[in-house]
Amino acid sequence: MKTLLILGAGTAGTMIARKMVSKLDSHDWKVILVDKDEKHYYQPGFLFLPFGKYTEGQVVKPKRQFIPGNVEFIISDIEVIEPSASRVKLVKDNRVISYDYLIIATGVDIHPEETEGLKGAGWHKNIFDFYTYEGASALRPFFEKWQGGRLVMNVVENPIKCPVAPLEFLFLADDYFTKRGIRNKVEMIYATPLTGAFTKPKSAEALGGLLASKNIIMETEFNTGEVDPVNNVLKSFDEREIPYDVLITIPTNKGSDLIARSGMGDNLNLVPTDKFTLQAKDWPNIWVMGDATNIPASKAGAVVHFQLEYVVENMLAHMAGREMHAKFDGHASCYIESGFNKAFLIDFSYDVEPLPGKYPIPGIGPFSLLKESTINHWGKLFFRYMYWYMMMKGIDVPLPSAFSMAGKER
Ligand SMILES: Cc1cc2nc3c(=O)[nH]c(=O)nc-3n(C[C@H](O)[C@H](O)[C@H](O)COP(=O)(O)OP(=O)(O)OC[C@H]3O[C@@H](n4cnc5c(N)ncnc54)[C@H](O)[C@@H]3O)c2cc1C
Repeated sequence: MKTLLILGAGTAGTMIARKMVSKLDSHDWKVILVDKDEKHYYQPGFLFLPFGKYTEGQVVKPKRQFIPGNVEFIISDIEVIEPSASRVKLVKDNRVISYDYLIIATGVDIHPEETEGLKGAGWHKNIFDFYTYEGASALRPFFEKWQGGRLVMNVVENPIKCPVAPLEFLFLADDYFTKRGIRNKVEMIYATPLTGAFTKPKSAEALGGLLASKNIIMETEFNTGEVDPVNNVLKSFDEREIPYDVLITIPTNKGSDLIARSGMGDNLNLVPTDKFTLQAKDWPNIWVMGDATNIPASKAGAVVHFQLEYVVENMLAHMAGREMHAKFDGHASCYIESGFNKAFLIDFSYDVEPLPGKYPIPGIGPFSLLKESTINHWGKLFFRYMYWYMMMKGIDVPLPSAFSMAGKER
């Protein structure tokens, strides 16, 4: 009996476990999935929690609900991967699992402790993250009572998962404080290490314009050095200072400590991965999916969905001793909530930046690319249903994995 071991039962691990167990002959293969946490979080929902738009039940569900019975599911922290011996040690019962193939899907987490002062006196008092369930939930009662002042949004460094989430947060905050009647008392600043609102020129222009139209000030090329939580000041390495009343932080995002313990990652604990085949660069029997990779694609659930068929095809080819032909093109699709029941949509790849047009049906849509629309907003809200009831349940989402220029205007 051969073993396919999957580490991490979040978005990527859950989807690939279900797919692979349906493809492999159960007489020859067993599939084992390991995660330290019983709870599955719909992370895109964290964006809405501070503004009272989603409830706990809409964002958190038991992981077991999504794992098929023919996958062995183990709840345990993972101590170490020993890739040269093809085995993994778990914390629970000191169990050692030898594998024939391994998939790493352990994601990334925030690390506020990497920035001096960030996790100090102000943490969850007037400094909040919204990339964890705890951070996003703590913001809701804070905002309900807040009477205004200066709100600073800061991305400490890139890459981060869902790179548009800080923008969405600001747009939703603008909407929320307007509806509360205190927008004129709230000053909003976006301090980002980027040169503009986004990495790619056309979307940077469109999103930068939207920030300006909502009177949200951008402080670009701001490389965060430290936070002074006593005097409420955010400081950059080049000695710029931004005082704040409330600081919303996207701390350094890093891969799991497990990757560092196993000596398998870069300085951010991301695993070096072939950007086309999604095979680990150093170990031919290991694949890496989702946020855990170092590939230059966006870290997003939609990207995991697009990666799925390439991982399946390439792994099956490799297992059968065939050549691997499937090449992931870096396809990413992200809705960007822009407030007042509107949203943008961007669709791009390794080679093509977000362009205007219609998606997924050329000329028809119904979604508009690089443009605000109400239908895009409904698409964003529908993504939660698609996530829980299609992607996590193994029902095919009718969106092609490969990036297409159809419907896009150069
Ligand atoms: C605020 C926010 C908004 C977002 N919005 C969007 C959006 O609108 N659209 C979109 O497509 N994406 C969005 N994302 C990104 C999306 O949620 C992630 O890209 C996606 O969940 C990545 O999946 P993953 O499987 O790689 O990692 P995860 O889903 O994070 O899963 C990793 C799993 O590994 C487990 N694990 C890690 N280390 C260990 C260990 N040592 N032992 C055992 N288990 C371990 C964890 O417990 C976890 O279950 C958003 C994310 C955030 C935070």
